[in-house]
Amino acid sequence: MILGKCPYCEGSVLSIKTVAQGKKVKLYTCENAKKEHDDSEQFVFTADSTCTFRVYSNTFLRWNKRSFSENEMKKLLNDGQTTIRLHGRKGTGEYFKYVIPSLEYGVSILWDEEVTQEDED
Ligand SMILES: [Zn+2]
Repeated sequence: MILGKCPYCEGSVLSIKTVAQGKKVKLYTCENAKKEHDDSEQFVFTADSTCTFRVYSNTFLRWNKRSFSENEMKKLLNDGQTTIRLHGRKGTGEYFKYVIPSLEYGVSILWDEEVTQEDED
């Protein structure tokens, strides 16, 4: 499924079902950012890759967000940012943060910006 246009090139961003570290996840990847296992079993970009935009749906797991959804990724690609709901440790409730594309990490959270209006999921 095509989710939108890559923030870094003219490619389409696709949603692919995959398995990472034994868990079923979705991979949102620019069609120009392909990875493969090289001779030493390293997972590296292919020689014909011209882009690096790849995001796994469990990218925010450490902030207790189980899945970054296709709809959230669509909005990110359309609007340049999206709002996500994160959960604190047990008992500390939920909070909202903006997410933007990141060259280094695929996506990153804007920790310093307060979300004033909560988007609907
Ligand atoms: Zn791209």
